[in-house]
Formats: sequence, C-alpha cells, structure tokens
Amino acid sequence: MTARLIDGRAVAAGLRARLAAEVAALPFRPRLQVILVGENPASAIYVRNKERAAREAGFAGETERLPEAISEAALIARIRALNDDPGVDGILVQLPLPTHIRAEAVIEAIDPAKDVDGFHPRNAGLLAIGRPALVPCTPKGVMTLLAEAAVPVAGARALVLGRSTIVGRPMAALLTLADATVTLAHSRTRDLAAECRRAEILVAAIGRAEFVRGDWISPGACVIDVGINRLADDRLAGDVAFAEALPHAGWITPVPGGVGPMTIATLLENTLAAATARRGLAAVAARGVSRGAA
Ligand code: NDP
Repeated sequence: MTARLIDGRAVAAGLRARLAAEVAALPFRPRLQVILVGENPASAIYVRNKERAAREAGFAGETERLPEAISEAALIARIRALNDDPGVDGILVQLPLPTHIRAEAVIEAIDPAKDVDGFHPRNAGLLAIGRPALVPCTPKGVMTLLAEAAVPVAGARALVLGRSTIVGRPMAALLTLADATVTLAHSRTRDLAAECRRAEILVAAIGRAEFVRGDWISPGACVIDVGINRLADDRLAGDVAFAEALPHAGWITPVPGGVGPMTIATLLENTLAAATARRGLAAVAARGVSRGAA
C-alpha cells in the first residue's frame, strides 16, 4: 500500500478562493488587525504571509509593528482600543512575545468575539464543553483536511500526539466533537509506539523531527503531521518519518505542503466568521460559529 497524499496547498487554495468569493459578496470588507511585537524573523515571515493571503482574499487590515521594548500595559491598552473599534473584526497578536510580556495576560485582553486565533480562555472553554465558537486555526484546518480527503472520523480511534493549547488539546476536542474516540498522548505517555499502532487517525504535533516511525503506523491509518522542524541541513521535516510511513499509511500529509498552508487559510475563515457573527449575519451558522463568542 502507498498512502494517498493529502495536498494541503490545494485544499488551502480552494478554501481561500471560497472565502474570497464570500467576502466579495459582502457589503463590507472584514478587517483583520495583526500585532507584531519586536523583530523575531520567523514571526515576521509568518505575518507577511498572513498579510498577503488576507489582501488577496479581499480582507482589510494592517499589521501594527510595535517595538520589542513595549510594556505589557501599553500592549494591552492597544488591544483594548482595537476591541472598542467597531471597524475591527479580528485581532491577532503574533506569538511568541518578548519575555517581559505575559502572553496569557495579552490573550485574555482580546475581546473573545474578535479572537480569531481562538486562544482566549472563553473560546478554549466553549470548545472544551462542545460549543465551539472561534477555534484555533491549525487544528480546525486539520479537520478541514480530514473532511476534504473524506477520511472517516466518526467512530474512528484517533491519537493526538502533543497536548499544547495551540494544537494538541483543541485537536483532541475537535475530534471528540466529530465522534472519534480520542487518546491524547504526551511526553509522559507510556509506550507511545503501542498507542500509535492502535490509531486509525494519528495527529502528530510534538515538534520532534521524524519522531514517529513507519512501523508505529497501523496499516491504512490517516497520518496528519503538524510538526515543522528545521534539520541541520536546513531542510524542513515533520514529526513523522515520512518515507517510512508511506507504505503503511492510508493517507498522509507532507511537510511542507500539508497542515501548514491550512493555518493561514483557516485564520481568514475565522476572521470572516467573526465579522459576520458580530454583525449578526447568516453566514455564521454555515461556518459553525455560535454567538457564544460575543
Ligand atoms: P509545544 O512545544 O507547545 O507542545 C509540544 C507537545 O508535544 C507537548 O504536549 C509535549 O508533551 C509533547 N512532546 C514533546 N516531546 C515529546 C515526546 N518525545 N514524546 C511525546 N510527547 C512529546 O508545541 P506546539 O503544539 O506549539 O507545536 C508542535 C509542533 O507543531 C511544532 O513542530 C510546531 O512547529 C508545529 N506547529 C505547526 C503549525 C502549522 O501551522 N503547521 C502551527 C503550530 C505548531 P508535554 O506536554 O508532556 O511536555
């Protein structure tokens, strides 16, 4: 058996095109404000990619580049001003922040209705109790990939490897909502290989290059590789040993070109959902975003 590749670039391009058509039909342009603090080069590239995707899909908004030395209080004051600005639909603060700023305090300052990253405790809590509002982009993008590839999720045994608040935990919540039987594994899990071998859907999000070996994969399983790791020779690798996994898996996402492109497309999806929800428009229901975030 050779796994079918799930082409995240193609799925993301399709999603962006659908969103652009929806935005073009609206009487307003959804506005996404991005805040970038300091000079982290990886963050700067990521933010530029977000800006480009947003512009191409017809969204309004700017990136505010704030100095590394900005105080936590000044950053939170800026977020409060965006909360109060009726023209702003989505607020994203690019992480990581400088060490003198508490990321939790900054995230908690964002109006949950404008929290397009879905990291605010209110949005995390709503997802945890099965009433998703604005949901973190990477795991939501994974659900879109599973749906596009027609991977059976309901009733499937799913293993999520990694329990971060950005990927693993919301991923496990979304798979549970989709009626998978979910195991959430982490660095203290005993016998990870055995846990992996039981999984029909395996989502790896640990940040360890090629950690999941081919013989850990159950024949025909769907392997979603969220990891992005830079190797010594500068190549990118996922958390799964891709070449080893190919003959075992039924479906697999490559790195790059799998989950990565979905994150930004899903950010735009969340921004459109936030914009329509705030204005009480009908598109909200179609996107599964409840007024719970308001
Ligand atoms: P974190 O570092 O926040 O979390 C890593 C998780 O993996 C933790 O729960 C940790 O366990 C677990 N873990 C680490 N090492 C092991 C191990 N040896 N065995 C089992 N579990 C382990 O990472 P993120 O969730 O933020 O990111 C994970 C990966 O996904 C990274 O490569 C990141 O670059 C990538 N990523 C990709 C995105 C995309 O758009 N494609 C977006 C976001 C992240 P414990 O809790 O016990 O410490």
